[in-house]
Amino acid sequence: MTEPAAPSGPIHVVVDLNRCQAYAQCCFFAPDVFKLHGEEALWYDPEPDASQRERVLRAAAVCPVQAITVAWSEAANRQKVEVPHA
Ligand code: SF4
Repeated sequence: MTEPAAPSGPIHVVVDLNRCQAYAQCCFFAPDVFKLHGEEALWYDPEPDASQRERVLRAAAVCPVQAITVAWSEAANRQKVEVPHA
Protein backbone atom coordinates (compact mmCIF):
# COMPACT_ATOMS: atom_id res chain seq x y z
CA MET A 1 0.00 0.00 0.00
CA THR A 2 1.30 3.47 -0.89
CA GLU A 3 1.29 6.18 1.74
CA PRO A 4 -0.46 9.44 0.79
CA ALA A 5 1.89 12.27 -0.16
CA ALA A 6 2.52 14.85 2.55
CA PRO A 7 1.02 18.25 1.81
CA SER A 8 3.36 20.98 0.64
CA GLY A 9 3.76 24.31 2.40
CA PRO A 10 5.32 25.48 5.64
CA ILE A 11 5.68 23.00 8.48
CA HIS A 12 4.47 23.75 11.98
CA VAL A 13 5.89 21.73 14.84
CA VAL A 14 4.59 21.58 18.37
CA VAL A 15 6.17 19.55 21.15
CA ASP A 16 4.20 18.82 24.28
CA LEU A 17 6.95 19.61 26.75
CA ASN A 18 4.90 18.19 29.61
CA ARG A 19 4.98 14.85 27.84
CA CYS A 20 8.57 15.01 26.55
CA GLN A 21 10.96 12.84 28.55
CA ALA A 22 14.14 14.09 26.83
CA TYR A 23 14.91 10.78 25.18
CA ALA A 24 16.55 12.74 22.33
CA GLN A 25 15.33 10.46 19.55
CA CYS A 26 14.04 13.52 17.69
CA CYS A 27 17.44 15.22 18.00
CA PHE A 28 19.04 12.27 16.25
CA PHE A 29 16.59 12.23 13.35
CA ALA A 30 16.27 16.03 12.86
CA PRO A 31 19.25 17.70 14.56
CA ASP A 32 18.59 21.07 12.87
CA VAL A 33 15.08 21.20 14.34
CA PHE A 34 15.41 19.56 17.77
CA LYS A 35 18.23 20.07 20.26
CA LEU A 36 18.66 19.10 23.88
CA HIS A 37 20.25 21.68 26.17
CA GLY A 38 21.54 20.02 29.28
CA GLU A 39 19.87 16.75 30.14
CA GLU A 40 16.25 17.82 30.07
CA ALA A 41 15.62 21.08 28.19
CA LEU A 42 14.44 20.46 24.65
CA TRP A 43 14.74 23.35 22.18
CA TYR A 44 12.91 23.07 18.88
CA ASP A 45 12.19 25.19 15.84
CA PRO A 46 8.38 25.51 15.61
CA GLU A 47 8.52 26.51 11.91
CA PRO A 48 11.40 24.67 10.28
CA ASP A 49 12.27 24.95 6.61
CA ALA A 50 10.20 22.74 4.33
CA SER A 51 13.38 20.85 3.42
CA GLN A 52 13.25 19.38 6.94
CA ARG A 53 9.85 17.77 6.35
CA GLU A 54 10.96 14.14 6.07
CA ARG A 55 13.34 14.41 9.02
CA VAL A 56 10.66 16.03 11.18
CA LEU A 57 8.14 13.33 10.28
CA ARG A 58 10.64 10.63 11.19
CA ALA A 59 11.41 12.40 14.45
CA ALA A 60 7.72 12.57 15.29
CA ALA A 61 7.25 8.92 14.42
CA VAL A 62 10.07 7.71 16.68
CA CYS A 63 9.26 9.84 19.73
CA PRO A 64 8.59 7.21 22.40
CA VAL A 65 5.96 9.33 24.15
CA GLN A 66 4.35 10.80 21.00
CA ALA A 67 5.03 14.36 22.13
CA ILE A 68 5.57 15.82 18.64
CA THR A 69 2.73 17.14 16.49
CA VAL A 70 3.36 18.19 12.89
CA ALA A 71 0.97 20.34 10.86
CA TRP A 72 0.98 22.15 7.54
CA SER A 73 -0.81 25.33 6.55
CA GLU A 74 -1.66 25.88 2.93
CA ALA A 75 -3.46 29.09 1.99
CA ALA A 76 -6.57 29.16 4.17
CA ASN A 77 -6.39 25.50 5.10
CA ARG A 78 -4.56 24.24 8.12
CA GLN A 79 -4.21 20.53 8.01
CA LYS A 80 -3.08 18.44 10.93
CA VAL A 81 -1.29 15.33 9.86
CA GLU A 82 -1.47 12.17 11.85
CA VAL A 83 2.01 10.73 12.16
CA PRO A 84 2.17 6.94 12.34
CA HIS A 85 4.24 5.85 15.30
CA ALA A 86 6.70 3.03 15.07
S1 SF4 B 1 11.97 12.14 21.08
FE1 SF4 B 1 10.11 12.85 22.15
S2 SF4 B 1 10.58 12.52 24.32
FE2 SF4 B 1 12.52 12.46 23.21
S3 SF4 B 1 13.32 14.55 23.31
FE3 SF4 B 1 12.19 14.37 21.40
S4 SF4 B 1 10.11 15.08 21.93
FE4 SF4 B 1 11.14 14.63 23.84
